[in-house]
Amino acid sequence: MDLELQGKTALVTGSGRGIGLAIAQALASEGCNIALNARTAETLGTAARTFAEPVSTHLADVSQPAKCQALIEEVIRRWNRLDILVCNVGSGASVPPGQETSGEWQRMLGLNLLATTNMVAVARNVLQQSQGVVLCISSICGQEILGAPLTYSAAKAALNQYVRGMARPLATDNVRINAIAPGNILTPGGVWDRKGQADPTALHALLEREVALQRLGQPEEIADLATFLVSKRASFITGSIYVADGGQVHA
Ligand code: NAD
Repeated sequence: MDLELQGKTALVTGSGRGIGLAIAQALASEGCNIALNARTAETLGTAARTFAEPVSTHLADVSQPAKCQALIEEVIRRWNRLDILVCNVGSGASVPPGQETSGEWQRMLGLNLLATTNMVAVARNVLQQSQGVVLCISSICGQEILGAPLTYSAAKAALNQYVRGMARPLATDNVRINAIAPGNILTPGGVWDRKGQADPTALHALLEREVALQRLGQPEEIADLATFLVSKRASFITGSIYVADGGQVHA
């Protein structure tokens, strides 16, 4: 299948490691120009060295609106265009359900919802020019209450509604928007890596009980779906949330 991604420019937020880095690598392998983003120069440098072709690196905390604007300007200065925006930044690390504070709600909504809405707002004009595409990384925690922090579940549920609701306004600009809701994905040093190290038996029992495929997912399995969704082969798809969880919430 020809994805026709050769020569497209893609910005992936939070692409220093984990799912974001895997998506950036998959898009690079299809011939995209890659703009990486993270909050530390060290993370960006390490990530950039994993690519065969030169990539651009952009330091920015995308939970801050002004930084999002500056980030898009930097990417346009470097590549002259933006075709693909992947809003990947997010985190489930928060307080247990029932222990939320006003500050924690604001921090988690900033990271898991506003980091995306801010980026789409500042990228809208350039994506309209390229007839581009937005892909958001949500979570199955936005679909159902699975015991994760409520701040995270509520913020990802709001993100899902944002994706559905923005499909029509963005369609008037010929821009598509979709989301992937991953299940439990194993990333080096990530939450599932830590859980597996701390108590492998408990992790195995959880996977056996909750997940049809009885295993963790790999970042590359999310990246493959992402690559399809941002390509022309998905040109009739907008406003959709794709679950990729090995059969957890629907099976
Ligand atoms: P990760 O923590 O491994 O990597 C996140 C990257 O984003 C890091 O490079 C970090 O530096 C960067 N980052 C964090 N906050 C940032 C900010 N404000 N501005 C710029 N960069 C920032 O994350 P991950 O596990 O790969 O998760 C990526 C996305 O996938 C998140 O939205 C997460 O909610 C979602 N997700 C992850 C899993 C999982 O099991 N790992 C499951 C479902 C959904």
